Amino acid sequence: MTFLGPWGIDLPVIDTLTAFAQAKIDELEARSLLRRLKPGRRFDDIFIERDSQTLISFSCNDYLNLSHHPKVKAAAIAAVEAYGAGSGASRLVTGDHPIFAPLEARLAALKGADAACVFGSGYLANTGIIPTIIGPDDLILVDALAHACIWSGAKLSGAKALAFRHNDAEHLAELLTEHRGSATRALVATDGVFSMDGDIAPLDEISAVARAHDAWLLVDDAHGLGVVGDGAGVGRLFPQARIDLAMGTFSKAIGGYGAYVCATQPVIDLIKSRARTFVYTTGLPPASAAAALAALEIIESDPDLVARPLAKARRFTSALNLPEATSAIVPILLGESATALAAARDLESQGLLAVAIRPPTVPAGTARLRLAFSAGHPDEAIDRLAEAVRPWVSR
Ligand SMILES: *Cc1c(COP(=O)(O)O)cnc(C)c1O
Repeated sequence: MTFLGPWGIDLPVIDTLTAFAQAKIDELEARSLLRRLKPGRRFDDIFIERDSQTLISFSCNDYLNLSHHPKVKAAAIAAVEAYGAGSGASRLVTGDHPIFAPLEARLAALKGADAACVFGSGYLANTGIIPTIIGPDDLILVDALAHACIWSGAKLSGAKALAFRHNDAEHLAELLTEHRGSATRALVATDGVFSMDGDIAPLDEISAVARAHDAWLLVDDAHGLGVVGDGAGVGRLFPQARIDLAMGTFSKAIGGYGAYVCATQPVIDLIKSRARTFVYTTGLPPASAAAALAALEIIESDPDLVARPLAKARRFTSALNLPEATSAIVPILLGESATALAAARDLESQGLLAVAIRPPTVPAGTARLRLAFSAGHPDEAIDRLAEAVRPWVSR
């Protein structure tokens, strides 16, 4: 490589950055941990075209196939026509297009909250919300398997961050007993439906423990909205639980992009004034907000559609005698990354797409196929998948 020096002279440089990247890549490759993009065109419903091969996808989070729903697409197109392709500025400057207020009102009503705040993405939401409400004198307890962006938010907050064992309210109580006293404020954060495991947090127990120790509760329901609790999300399954911050995304069953948090009005006002990933970033494109609103209308008016992903997942778990699915996500744990890659290749050769999920997305030794079921999967496709997965389950 050369470097254009002063007076336009090409100077050779020892490019340490490239050497560093190459060494890292070689190491990841050797451990079956290198990730590569694979362009793929998604068609409506369940098909994806990759390398000119058409596969049935079990790796999309578009659980209700709303990304291609005619009403959702029409709403997005109409919003582009009305408001343009981008929002033009931070929402606090001039990017607060008229579509955001009705979307936030609808989300708040769905969650039984005072108010809502829409963010650019789920990652931005969690990395913005958490540092807004806790800081260096505080404590945050996070489920060990919670989504990476909750951990990023915890780190950014500067609070003491501790992991409690997955779905273990007793361990949470032990940690709070030991550490709550030395912290000013405390926050408990968990996924509602776990993104790589598909199981559901016991929010009744977790909420009771949090309240007993004067800790607030944030629930990330990215995979619950539109799928569990009649589509209202995981909170609906635990009416006794008090969820102070009900966060979720438009990137999964809503079929689009963006995220939200529902809370009391003062909490939302504080977030809108102080969350750095809200203040210092451009507003979500109006088309994404309009698409989300249209998708929410469908979810609230079509209980048969909403019931389908879980029913499909259960058809699969029952075919293989696996524990009954509790969400649209079913993990097939395979252990080593190389095994998960081999299983994915095997399925792909049979026309089925199930992307291998490897560390650090999941803990070491728990590489897996993560199967995601959607309303549009015909029963025959699920039966085919079950037969293709069977040899990997009974190894
Ligand atoms: C996907 C996901 C996110 C991130 O949402 P994006 O909108 O894709 O940034 C956050 N939390 C959980 C649990 C998720 O599954």
